[in-house]
Amino acid sequence: MYQFSRGIYRELASEVQPGRAGGACETRQRLLRDCEAAMERLATDRHYFARPVRTLFNDIRCLFPMSSQMHVLRVIERHVSLAIEYVDTQAREGVTFDGSPLCCHATTRKGTSCQRVPLPGTKYCPSHKHLDDELPELEVTAA
Ligand SMILES: [Zn+2]
Repeated sequence: MYQFSRGIYRELASEVQPGRAGGACETRQRLLRDCEAAMERLATDRHYFARPVRTLFNDIRCLFPMSSQMHVLRVIERHVSLAIEYVDTQAREGVTFDGSPLCCHATTRKGTSCQRVPLPGTKYCPSHKHLDDELPELEVTAA
C-alpha cells in the first residue's frame, strides 16, 4: 500500500514550501506522514473513507505554494485512484492489503468489534448483514 503514498511523496516532495510545518525537511516528513495515514485509512477502512482525494488534499495543501495546488490535486487523484483500484481487488479476495483478513464492521453486544469475515462485497458478516440496509445514515456520519 505504501507504494502509493511513496508515489505521491516522490512527485511532490520537491515542491513543498517550508513555513507553517517547519523547515523543508519537517515539511517533507509531514507530507509523507499524511500520505501514509491516508493510504492506511483507505486500506483498512475503505467503506467509511468517502472522499480520500479531498481529505488528503485538504491535509497537505498548506504545505505547498499557491502555484502548485492544481498539480498537487492531480497527483493525489492519480495515485489515490490506483490505490482504490488496488484495495478493491484485494477486498474481493477477503483480505486487506497486508494480508490480514477483512473483519465485519459491526460491534458485538459485548462492545467489541466483530471478528467474523464479511460477506463478499459487504461490510458485514452473515449475522450482521441486516445492518447494511438498516442504518444508511451511519455511513454519512462516520465519513
Ligand atoms: Zn459481524
